[in-house]
Amino acid sequence: MISAEIIAIGSELLLGGRTDTNSVFLSEMLANLGIEVGFKTVVGDNVSHICQALVVASRRVDIVVVSGGLGPTIDDLTRDSVARVTGRPLRRRDRVVKAIKERFDRQRREITTNQLRQAQLPMGADCLTNSVGTAPGFSMKWGKCRLICLPGVSHEARQMFTETVQPLLSREGYVRPPLRMRTIHTFGLLEGHVDEAIADLVPKSGRFRLGLLASPMGVSVSLTEIHPEHEKNKENRLFFDNNKVELEVLVKSISTRLYPHVYGYDHEKMEEVVGNRLRDSGLSISVAESCTGGLIGHRITQVAGSSGYFERGVVCYSNHAKTSLLGVSPAILRRYGAVSAQVARRMAEGVREGSGTALGLSVTGIAGPLGGTAAKPVGLVYVGLSTPNKTFIREFRFHGDRGIVKLRSSQGALDVVRRHVCGLPMGDA
Ligand code: ATP
Ligand code: MG
Repeated sequence: MISAEIIAIGSELLLGGRTDTNSVFLSEMLANLGIEVGFKTVVGDNVSHICQALVVASRRVDIVVVSGGLGPTIDDLTRDSVARVTGRPLRRRDRVVKAIKERFDRQRREITTNQLRQAQLPMGADCLTNSVGTAPGFSMKWGKCRLICLPGVSHEARQMFTETVQPLLSREGYVRPPLRMRTIHTFGLLEGHVDEAIADLVPKSGRFRLGLLASPMGVSVSLTEIHPEHEKNKENRLFFDNNKVELEVLVKSISTRLYPHVYGYDHEKMEEVVGNRLRDSGLSISVAESCTGGLIGHRITQVAGSSGYFERGVVCYSNHAKTSLLGVSPAILRRYGAVSAQVARRMAEGVREGSGTALGLSVTGIAGPLGGTAAKPVGLVYVGLSTPNKTFIREFRFHGDRGIVKLRSSQGALDVVRRHVCGLPMGDA
Protein backbone atom coordinates (compact mmCIF):
# COMPACT_ATOMS: atom_id res chain seq x y z
CA MET A 1 0.00 0.00 0.00
CA ILE A 2 1.38 3.39 -0.97
CA SER A 3 0.78 5.90 1.80
CA ALA A 4 0.61 9.67 1.81
CA GLU A 5 0.44 12.58 4.20
CA ILE A 6 -1.06 15.96 3.40
CA ILE A 7 0.43 19.00 5.12
CA ALA A 8 -1.69 22.14 4.88
CA ILE A 9 0.34 25.26 5.62
CA GLY A 10 -1.18 28.56 6.74
CA SER A 11 -1.69 30.24 10.10
CA GLU A 12 -5.20 31.23 8.99
CA LEU A 13 -6.09 27.52 9.02
CA LEU A 14 -5.27 27.37 12.73
CA LEU A 15 -7.13 30.50 13.76
CA GLY A 16 -10.61 29.13 13.20
CA GLY A 17 -11.66 31.47 10.39
CA ARG A 18 -10.77 29.23 7.49
CA THR A 19 -10.99 25.49 6.97
CA ASP A 20 -8.40 23.32 5.28
CA THR A 21 -10.54 22.28 2.34
CA ASN A 22 -7.60 21.49 0.06
CA SER A 23 -6.90 18.25 1.87
CA VAL A 24 -10.44 17.11 1.15
CA PHE A 25 -10.05 17.09 -2.61
CA LEU A 26 -6.40 16.01 -2.39
CA SER A 27 -7.49 12.95 -0.35
CA GLU A 28 -10.08 12.11 -2.94
CA MET A 29 -7.63 12.50 -5.82
CA LEU A 30 -5.03 10.36 -4.05
CA ALA A 31 -7.62 7.66 -3.27
CA ASN A 32 -8.44 7.57 -6.98
CA LEU A 33 -4.78 6.78 -7.61
CA GLY A 34 -4.93 3.96 -5.06
CA ILE A 35 -2.85 5.95 -2.56
CA GLU A 36 -4.05 5.91 1.03
CA VAL A 37 -3.81 9.11 3.03
CA GLY A 38 -2.63 8.06 6.46
CA PHE A 39 -2.21 11.50 8.02
CA LYS A 40 -3.23 15.12 7.59
CA THR A 41 -1.31 17.84 9.35
CA VAL A 42 -2.09 21.55 9.57
CA VAL A 43 0.77 23.87 10.46
CA GLY A 44 1.11 27.65 10.75
CA ASP A 45 3.43 30.01 8.87
CA ASN A 46 6.50 29.22 10.96
CA VAL A 47 9.69 27.76 9.47
CA SER A 48 10.61 25.68 12.49
CA HIS A 49 7.11 24.18 12.74
CA ILE A 50 6.95 23.48 9.02
CA CYS A 51 10.35 21.76 9.19
CA GLN A 52 9.21 19.59 12.09
CA ALA A 53 6.06 18.57 10.22
CA LEU A 54 8.07 17.74 7.10
CA VAL A 55 10.57 15.57 9.00
CA VAL A 56 7.84 13.61 10.79
CA ALA A 57 5.89 13.09 7.56
CA SER A 58 8.93 12.00 5.55
CA ARG A 59 9.57 9.20 8.05
CA ARG A 60 6.10 7.71 8.04
CA VAL A 61 4.76 7.86 4.47
CA ASP A 62 5.84 7.41 0.85
CA ILE A 63 4.41 10.66 -0.49
CA VAL A 64 4.15 14.03 1.26
CA VAL A 65 1.82 16.55 -0.39
CA VAL A 66 2.18 20.11 0.92
CA SER A 67 -0.32 22.85 0.11
CA GLY A 68 0.16 26.57 0.72
CA GLY A 69 2.93 29.05 1.40
CA LEU A 70 4.30 29.25 -2.12
CA GLY A 71 3.28 32.85 -2.83
CA PRO A 72 5.50 35.92 -2.90
CA THR A 73 4.80 37.38 0.53
CA ILE A 74 6.75 37.31 3.78
CA ASP A 75 4.43 34.71 5.29
CA ASP A 76 4.96 32.26 2.42
CA LEU A 77 7.62 30.03 3.93
CA THR A 78 7.32 26.64 2.27
CA ARG A 79 10.31 27.07 -0.07
CA ASP A 80 12.61 28.26 2.74
CA SER A 81 11.51 25.45 5.04
CA VAL A 82 12.02 22.74 2.42
CA ALA A 83 15.46 24.18 1.58
CA ARG A 84 16.43 24.15 5.22
CA VAL A 85 15.15 20.71 6.10
CA THR A 86 16.45 18.95 2.99
CA GLY A 87 19.75 20.84 2.89
CA ARG A 88 19.12 21.91 -0.69
CA PRO A 89 19.59 25.68 -1.02
CA LEU A 90 17.21 27.80 -3.08
CA ARG A 91 18.30 28.66 -6.61
CA ARG A 92 16.65 31.08 -8.97
CA ARG A 93 15.13 29.36 -12.01
CA ASP A 94 15.39 31.52 -15.11
CA ARG A 95 12.51 29.76 -16.84
CA VAL A 96 10.23 30.51 -13.91
CA VAL A 97 11.36 34.17 -13.83
CA LYS A 98 10.52 34.41 -17.53
CA ALA A 99 7.10 32.81 -17.02
CA ILE A 100 6.26 35.17 -14.13
CA LYS A 101 7.33 38.23 -16.16
CA GLU A 102 5.27 37.12 -19.14
CA ARG A 103 2.23 36.57 -16.95
CA PHE A 104 2.53 40.09 -15.50
CA ASP A 105 3.04 41.58 -18.99
CA ARG A 106 -0.06 39.86 -20.27
CA GLN A 107 -2.07 41.28 -17.36
CA ARG A 108 -0.39 44.71 -17.84
CA ARG A 109 0.71 44.71 -14.22
CA GLU A 110 3.98 46.02 -12.78
CA ILE A 111 6.08 43.23 -11.32
CA THR A 112 7.36 43.69 -7.76
CA THR A 113 10.67 42.26 -6.56
CA ASN A 114 9.02 39.95 -4.07
CA GLN A 115 7.20 38.24 -6.98
CA LEU A 116 10.58 36.86 -8.03
CA ARG A 117 10.89 34.98 -4.73
CA GLN A 118 8.53 32.53 -6.34
CA ALA A 119 11.22 31.60 -8.86
CA GLN A 120 13.54 30.38 -6.08
CA LEU A 121 13.28 26.61 -5.85
CA PRO A 122 15.35 24.07 -3.90
CA MET A 123 18.28 22.68 -5.88
CA GLY A 124 17.38 19.54 -7.80
CA ALA A 125 13.60 20.01 -7.40
CA ASP A 126 11.39 19.57 -10.46
CA CYS A 127 9.29 22.63 -11.17
CA LEU A 128 5.53 22.01 -11.45
CA THR A 129 3.99 24.49 -13.87
CA ASN A 130 1.11 26.61 -12.62
CA SER A 131 -1.20 27.15 -15.59
CA VAL A 132 -3.73 29.23 -13.64
CA GLY A 133 -1.57 31.28 -11.24
CA THR A 134 1.88 32.70 -10.67
CA ALA A 135 3.54 30.50 -8.04
CA PRO A 136 4.96 27.26 -9.47
CA GLY A 137 4.90 24.13 -7.38
CA PHE A 138 7.79 21.73 -7.08
CA SER A 139 8.52 18.11 -6.42
CA MET A 140 11.59 16.24 -5.27
CA LYS A 141 12.78 12.90 -3.99
CA TRP A 142 13.83 13.30 -0.37
CA GLY A 143 15.26 10.20 1.27
CA LYS A 144 12.69 7.48 0.74
CA CYS A 145 9.79 9.81 0.19
CA ARG A 146 8.49 11.92 -2.67
CA LEU A 147 7.77 15.50 -1.63
CA ILE A 148 5.26 17.54 -3.61
CA CYS A 149 4.55 21.22 -2.89
CA LEU A 150 1.41 22.85 -4.28
CA PRO A 151 -0.02 26.38 -3.94
CA GLY A 152 -2.63 27.11 -1.27
CA VAL A 153 -5.16 28.68 -3.64
CA SER A 154 -7.60 25.81 -4.12
CA HIS A 155 -8.23 25.95 -7.85
CA GLU A 156 -4.48 26.28 -8.51
CA ALA A 157 -3.68 23.27 -6.31
CA ARG A 158 -6.39 21.21 -7.95
CA GLN A 159 -5.31 22.13 -11.48
CA MET A 160 -1.64 21.45 -10.71
CA PHE A 161 -2.49 18.10 -9.20
CA THR A 162 -4.37 16.88 -12.27
CA GLU A 163 -2.07 18.42 -14.86
CA THR A 164 1.36 17.62 -13.45
CA VAL A 165 1.30 15.62 -10.20
CA GLN A 166 -0.91 12.80 -11.41
CA PRO A 167 1.29 12.05 -14.48
CA LEU A 168 4.39 12.34 -12.30
CA LEU A 169 3.10 9.82 -9.73
CA SER A 170 2.11 7.51 -12.53
CA ARG A 171 5.56 7.78 -14.19
CA GLU A 172 7.24 7.05 -10.87
CA GLY A 173 5.18 3.91 -10.26
CA TYR A 174 3.18 5.12 -7.26
CA VAL A 175 -0.23 4.60 -8.82
CA ARG A 176 -2.40 1.61 -7.90
CA PRO A 177 -5.99 0.63 -8.73
CA PRO A 178 -8.31 3.16 -7.09
CA LEU A 179 -9.46 2.48 -3.56
CA ARG A 180 -13.05 1.50 -4.10
CA MET A 181 -15.44 3.37 -1.88
CA ARG A 182 -19.21 3.39 -1.72
CA THR A 183 -21.31 5.61 0.48
CA ILE A 184 -24.93 5.03 1.44
CA HIS A 185 -26.83 8.10 2.64
CA THR A 186 -29.71 7.79 5.08
CA PHE A 187 -32.04 10.27 6.71
CA GLY A 188 -34.19 9.79 9.81
CA LEU A 189 -32.03 7.29 11.71
CA LEU A 190 -29.67 7.85 14.61
CA GLU A 191 -26.02 6.80 14.27
CA GLY A 192 -26.46 4.17 16.99
CA HIS A 193 -29.44 2.64 15.18
CA VAL A 194 -27.56 2.43 11.92
CA ASP A 195 -24.60 0.85 13.67
CA GLU A 196 -26.77 -1.74 15.36
CA ALA A 197 -28.71 -2.52 12.22
CA ILE A 198 -25.68 -3.29 10.06
CA ALA A 199 -22.87 -4.25 12.46
CA ASP A 200 -23.01 -7.97 11.66
CA LEU A 201 -22.83 -7.40 7.90
CA VAL A 202 -19.27 -6.06 7.77
CA PRO A 203 -16.69 -8.28 9.48
CA LYS A 204 -13.99 -6.24 11.24
CA SER A 205 -11.17 -8.24 9.72
CA GLY A 206 -12.69 -8.24 6.23
CA ARG A 207 -11.74 -6.48 3.03
CA PHE A 208 -13.70 -3.32 3.72
CA ARG A 209 -13.49 -0.65 6.33
CA LEU A 210 -16.84 0.53 7.62
CA GLY A 211 -17.34 4.19 8.50
CA LEU A 212 -20.37 6.03 9.91
CA LEU A 213 -20.67 9.75 9.47
CA ALA A 214 -23.46 11.74 11.13
CA SER A 215 -24.29 15.21 9.83
CA PRO A 216 -27.37 17.46 9.64
CA MET A 217 -28.13 15.69 6.35
CA GLY A 218 -28.41 12.31 8.09
CA VAL A 219 -26.13 9.36 8.73
CA SER A 220 -23.91 8.11 5.92
CA VAL A 221 -22.34 4.69 5.81
CA SER A 222 -19.07 4.34 3.93
CA LEU A 223 -17.32 1.19 2.82
CA THR A 224 -13.69 1.54 1.78
CA GLU A 225 -11.62 -1.21 0.27
CA ILE A 226 -8.47 -2.19 2.12
CA HIS A 227 -5.59 -2.89 -0.26
CA PRO A 228 -3.38 -5.90 0.26
CA GLU A 229 0.39 -5.34 0.50
CA HIS A 230 1.41 -6.64 -2.94
CA GLU A 231 -1.26 -5.48 -5.30
CA LYS A 232 0.40 -6.20 -8.57
CA ASN A 233 0.44 -9.99 -8.82
CA LYS A 234 -2.15 -12.10 -10.53
CA GLU A 235 -3.68 -13.46 -7.38
CA ASN A 236 -4.43 -9.98 -6.22
CA ARG A 237 -5.99 -8.98 -9.50
CA LEU A 238 -8.47 -11.74 -8.77
CA PHE A 239 -8.77 -10.32 -5.27
CA PHE A 240 -9.78 -6.96 -6.78
CA ASP A 241 -12.39 -8.47 -9.08
CA ASN A 242 -13.87 -10.43 -6.19
CA ASN A 243 -13.85 -7.30 -4.08
CA LYS A 244 -15.92 -5.43 -6.63
CA VAL A 245 -18.67 -8.03 -6.53
CA GLU A 246 -18.50 -8.38 -2.76
CA LEU A 247 -18.70 -4.62 -2.28
CA GLU A 248 -21.85 -4.34 -4.37
CA VAL A 249 -23.42 -7.24 -2.47
CA LEU A 250 -22.63 -5.48 0.81
CA VAL A 251 -24.10 -2.19 -0.42
CA LYS A 252 -27.29 -4.05 -1.34
CA SER A 253 -27.64 -5.81 1.99
CA ILE A 254 -26.94 -2.62 3.96
CA SER A 255 -29.51 -0.75 1.86
CA THR A 256 -32.10 -3.45 2.52
CA ARG A 257 -31.52 -3.21 6.27
CA LEU A 258 -31.79 0.58 6.25
CA TYR A 259 -34.79 0.81 3.90
CA PRO A 260 -36.73 3.14 3.50
CA HIS A 261 -34.31 5.62 5.04
CA VAL A 262 -31.71 5.30 2.26
CA TYR A 263 -32.06 8.29 -0.03
CA GLY A 264 -28.91 8.19 -2.13
CA TYR A 265 -25.44 6.88 -2.85
CA ASP A 266 -21.92 8.30 -3.16
CA HIS A 267 -22.02 11.94 -4.30
CA GLU A 268 -25.81 12.12 -4.62
CA LYS A 269 -27.59 14.82 -2.67
CA MET A 270 -31.19 14.69 -1.45
CA GLU A 271 -32.22 17.58 -3.72
CA GLU A 272 -30.83 15.75 -6.77
CA VAL A 273 -32.58 12.51 -5.88
CA VAL A 274 -35.88 14.35 -5.30
CA GLY A 275 -35.40 16.47 -8.44
CA ASN A 276 -34.77 13.41 -10.62
CA ARG A 277 -37.86 11.67 -9.30
CA LEU A 278 -40.03 14.75 -9.81
CA ARG A 279 -38.72 15.19 -13.36
CA ASP A 280 -39.20 11.50 -14.22
CA SER A 281 -42.73 11.41 -12.86
CA GLY A 282 -43.67 14.75 -14.46
CA LEU A 283 -44.71 16.29 -11.12
CA SER A 284 -44.31 19.98 -10.35
CA ILE A 285 -43.74 21.44 -6.90
CA SER A 286 -44.05 24.72 -5.04
CA VAL A 287 -42.73 25.45 -1.57
CA ALA A 288 -43.89 27.58 1.37
CA GLU A 289 -41.11 28.12 3.88
CA SER A 290 -41.20 29.68 7.29
CA CYS A 291 -38.28 28.62 9.54
CA THR A 292 -36.03 27.57 6.64
CA GLY A 293 -36.22 31.08 5.16
CA GLY A 294 -35.79 29.98 1.53
CA LEU A 295 -33.24 27.23 2.08
CA ILE A 296 -35.41 24.53 0.50
CA GLY A 297 -36.00 26.67 -2.59
CA HIS A 298 -32.27 27.32 -2.74
CA ARG A 299 -31.42 23.64 -2.52
CA ILE A 300 -33.98 22.62 -5.12
CA THR A 301 -32.71 25.28 -7.53
CA GLN A 302 -29.08 24.22 -7.03
CA VAL A 303 -29.93 21.31 -9.32
CA ALA A 304 -29.55 22.04 -13.03
CA GLY A 305 -32.86 21.60 -14.83
CA SER A 306 -34.96 22.34 -11.73
CA SER A 307 -37.06 24.83 -13.74
CA GLY A 308 -38.67 21.72 -15.23
CA TYR A 309 -40.46 20.96 -11.94
CA PHE A 310 -39.99 23.85 -9.48
CA GLU A 311 -42.69 26.52 -9.84
CA ARG A 312 -42.17 28.87 -6.89
CA GLY A 313 -40.93 29.28 -3.39
CA VAL A 314 -42.72 31.53 -0.91
CA VAL A 315 -40.88 32.69 2.20
CA CYS A 316 -43.70 33.42 4.62
CA TYR A 317 -41.94 34.19 7.86
CA SER A 318 -44.55 36.33 9.62
CA ASN A 319 -48.16 35.41 10.41
CA HIS A 320 -49.21 38.23 8.12
CA ALA A 321 -47.28 36.66 5.23
CA LYS A 322 -48.85 33.26 5.91
CA THR A 323 -52.29 34.82 5.75
CA SER A 324 -51.86 37.24 2.87
CA LEU A 325 -49.72 35.02 0.60
CA LEU A 326 -51.13 31.56 1.38
CA GLY A 327 -54.56 32.17 2.84
CA VAL A 328 -53.83 30.65 6.26
CA SER A 329 -56.72 31.93 8.36
CA PRO A 330 -55.88 34.21 11.30
CA ALA A 331 -58.22 32.08 13.44
CA ILE A 332 -56.13 28.93 12.80
CA LEU A 333 -52.95 30.84 13.55
CA ARG A 334 -54.42 32.16 16.81
CA ARG A 335 -55.85 28.83 17.86
CA TYR A 336 -52.95 26.49 17.08
CA GLY A 337 -49.97 28.84 16.75
CA ALA A 338 -47.74 29.36 13.69
CA VAL A 339 -45.75 26.21 14.51
CA SER A 340 -48.47 23.58 14.31
CA ALA A 341 -49.62 20.72 12.14
CA GLN A 342 -52.74 22.71 11.21
CA VAL A 343 -50.77 25.69 9.92
CA ALA A 344 -48.30 23.41 8.05
CA ARG A 345 -51.32 21.80 6.37
CA ARG A 346 -52.86 25.12 5.33
CA MET A 347 -49.50 26.44 4.10
CA ALA A 348 -48.93 23.36 1.91
CA GLU A 349 -52.46 23.46 0.53
CA GLY A 350 -52.32 27.22 0.06
CA VAL A 351 -49.08 27.23 -1.91
CA ARG A 352 -50.26 24.32 -4.05
CA GLU A 353 -53.62 25.94 -4.83
CA GLY A 354 -52.03 29.32 -5.52
CA SER A 355 -49.43 27.94 -7.91
CA GLY A 356 -51.36 25.14 -9.56
CA THR A 357 -48.59 22.59 -8.99
CA ALA A 358 -49.06 18.89 -8.37
CA LEU A 359 -47.35 19.14 -5.00
CA GLY A 360 -47.20 21.85 -2.34
CA LEU A 361 -44.54 21.55 0.36
CA SER A 362 -44.49 23.56 3.59
CA VAL A 363 -42.26 23.95 6.63
CA THR A 364 -42.94 25.74 9.89
CA GLY A 365 -40.84 25.30 13.02
CA ILE A 366 -38.78 26.80 15.81
CA ALA A 367 -35.14 27.13 14.76
CA GLY A 368 -34.08 28.71 18.08
CA PRO A 369 -32.26 29.64 20.14
CA LEU A 370 -35.25 31.78 21.25
CA GLY A 371 -38.95 31.07 20.95
CA GLY A 372 -39.15 27.60 22.47
CA THR A 373 -41.61 26.60 25.22
CA ALA A 374 -42.15 23.38 27.17
CA ALA A 375 -44.97 22.38 24.83
CA LYS A 376 -43.22 23.60 21.69
CA PRO A 377 -39.46 23.30 22.18
CA VAL A 378 -36.70 24.58 19.91
CA GLY A 379 -36.29 22.10 17.07
CA LEU A 380 -40.01 21.30 16.74
CA VAL A 381 -40.75 21.39 13.02
CA TYR A 382 -43.84 20.53 10.99
CA VAL A 383 -43.65 19.60 7.34
CA GLY A 384 -46.74 19.52 5.17
CA LEU A 385 -47.05 17.97 1.71
CA SER A 386 -50.21 18.65 -0.19
CA THR A 387 -50.94 16.25 -3.08
CA PRO A 388 -54.02 15.90 -5.32
CA ASN A 389 -55.45 13.20 -3.05
CA LYS A 390 -54.19 13.86 0.42
CA THR A 391 -52.13 16.21 2.60
CA PHE A 392 -49.38 14.53 4.62
CA ILE A 393 -48.07 16.06 7.83
CA ARG A 394 -44.91 15.05 9.62
CA GLU A 395 -43.66 16.28 12.94
CA PHE A 396 -39.90 16.39 13.55
CA ARG A 397 -37.99 17.16 16.72
CA PHE A 398 -34.50 18.20 15.72
CA HIS A 399 -31.47 18.98 17.86
CA GLY A 400 -28.76 21.50 17.18
CA ASP A 401 -28.23 25.21 16.81
CA ARG A 402 -30.22 27.50 14.53
CA GLY A 403 -28.22 26.69 11.39
CA ILE A 404 -28.38 22.97 12.00
CA VAL A 405 -32.13 22.98 12.71
CA LYS A 406 -32.64 24.86 9.44
CA LEU A 407 -30.51 22.37 7.51
CA ARG A 408 -32.22 19.37 9.13
CA SER A 409 -35.64 20.89 8.44
CA SER A 410 -34.82 21.33 4.76
CA GLN A 411 -33.56 17.75 4.60
CA GLY A 412 -36.63 16.45 6.45
CA ALA A 413 -38.96 18.33 4.10
CA LEU A 414 -37.20 17.04 0.99
CA ASP A 415 -37.31 13.53 2.46
CA VAL A 416 -41.08 13.79 2.79
CA VAL A 417 -41.27 14.60 -0.93
CA ARG A 418 -38.88 11.73 -1.73
CA ARG A 419 -40.96 9.24 0.22
CA HIS A 420 -44.13 10.40 -1.50
CA VAL A 421 -42.79 10.31 -5.06
CA CYS A 422 -41.07 6.95 -4.47
CA GLY A 423 -44.22 5.44 -2.95
CA LEU A 424 -42.51 4.78 0.40
CA PRO A 425 -44.10 4.87 3.85
CA MET A 426 -43.91 8.34 5.42
CA GLY A 427 -42.41 6.92 8.63
CA ASP A 428 -41.92 8.40 12.06
CA ALA A 429 -39.94 11.51 12.75
P1 ATP B 1 -0.53 32.95 -2.86
O1 ATP B 1 0.26 33.09 -4.10
O2 ATP B 1 -1.96 33.37 -3.03
O3 ATP B 1 0.11 33.56 -1.64
P2 ATP B 1 0.14 30.42 -1.61
O4 ATP B 1 0.55 29.16 -2.26
O5 ATP B 1 1.18 31.15 -0.85
O6 ATP B 1 -0.59 31.34 -2.65
P3 ATP B 1 -1.34 30.68 0.72
O7 ATP B 1 -0.80 32.07 0.83
O8 ATP B 1 -0.95 29.70 1.77
O9 ATP B 1 -0.99 30.04 -0.65
O10 ATP B 1 -2.91 30.70 0.59
C1 ATP B 1 -3.56 31.36 -0.47
C2 ATP B 1 -5.05 31.33 -0.24
O11 ATP B 1 -5.52 29.99 -0.24
C3 ATP B 1 -5.45 31.93 1.10
O12 ATP B 1 -6.69 32.60 0.95
C4 ATP B 1 -5.58 30.72 1.97
O13 ATP B 1 -6.42 30.94 3.06
C5 ATP B 1 -6.12 29.68 1.01
N1 ATP B 1 -5.66 28.38 1.46
C6 ATP B 1 -4.40 28.02 1.79
N2 ATP B 1 -4.33 26.74 2.17
C7 ATP B 1 -5.60 26.26 2.11
C8 ATP B 1 -6.19 24.99 2.41
N3 ATP B 1 -5.47 23.96 2.84
N4 ATP B 1 -7.52 24.88 2.25
C9 ATP B 1 -8.26 25.90 1.79
N5 ATP B 1 -7.77 27.12 1.50
C10 ATP B 1 -6.46 27.31 1.66
MG1 MG C 1 0.51 33.17 0.22
